[in-house]
Amino acid sequence: MEIEVDGLSKRYGQVSALDGVSFTVRPGMVTGFVGPNGAGKSTTMRVILGLDAADGGRALVGGRPYRTLRDPLRAVGAMLDASAVHPGRRGRDHLRWIAHSAGLPKRRLNEVLSQVGLSESAARRRVGGYSLGMRQRLGIAAALLGDPRVLMLDEPVNGLDPEGIVWIRGLLRSLAAEGRAVLVSSHLMGELEGTADRLVVIGRGRIIADASVPELLAAA
Ligand code: ADP
Ligand code: ADP
Repeated sequence: MEIEVDGLSKRYGQVSALDGVSFTVRPGMVTGFVGPNGAGKSTTMRVILGLDAADGGRALVGGRPYRTLRDPLRAVGAMLDASAVHPGRRGRDHLRWIAHSAGLPKRRLNEVLSQVGLSESAARRRVGGYSLGMRQRLGIAAALLGDPRVLMLDEPVNGLDPEGIVWIRGLLRSLAAEGRAVLVSSHLMGELEGTADRLVVIGRGRIIADASVPELLAAA
């Protein structure tokens, strides 16, 4: 399954958040989505997920708009805002809630917790006491629950310690090696250089570059 974004435009009042954004996220690769804060990365991801409507253009997942997918959690796993979980909720209960509402088997909870390196005892604690790195891990666990073909993570490296950064690189590489399409955003170009196969660079709502990492490095 791939993500196809074609000519997206989006305004918030006077602000043009997206202005003709097109790119493709292919299976078996990590695609880095890079640009400064306010460039339009989160808006693009929200539009792909149907959480926000574009004024023009279209976004398709496996050839269909997200909202028409028959089994959306098994098609697309996303983490848009790791800090959005209710602070009073326990990590495990957050995952259980999503698994339950999506009809996913309970064993997936333990699988994704070990995949993201959250211990049993961490999962029993309330999210309000989590570090940002632990919230990122919980958000990624939630995105992985449906064993999705497409993964979309907004700034997952934020708040991770050096060990966490090494871990997430390995995780993203192995998810892509399993044939998944992985889209991961960052406001820091260098952050994804060693992880992504391809970089889509966005600035002020426009795609500035879209090339393989070796191509981009050769051009720089
Ligand atoms: P990024 O994820 O790259 O930091 P965003 O997609 O969040 O960028 O924002 C793109 C532009 O759209 C920015 O100028 C931002 O201020 C604006 N924007 C995003 N969401 C909203 C919103 N809900 N209301 C008004 N402006 C918004
Ligand atoms: P609490 O009292 O701990 O906040 P609730 O079950 O009342 O727990 O949840 C509060 C709100 O958050 C509800 O509207 C629920 O639908 C929503 N919610 C809970 N978990 C999630 C989740 N994982 N993803 C999205 N929404 C959630």
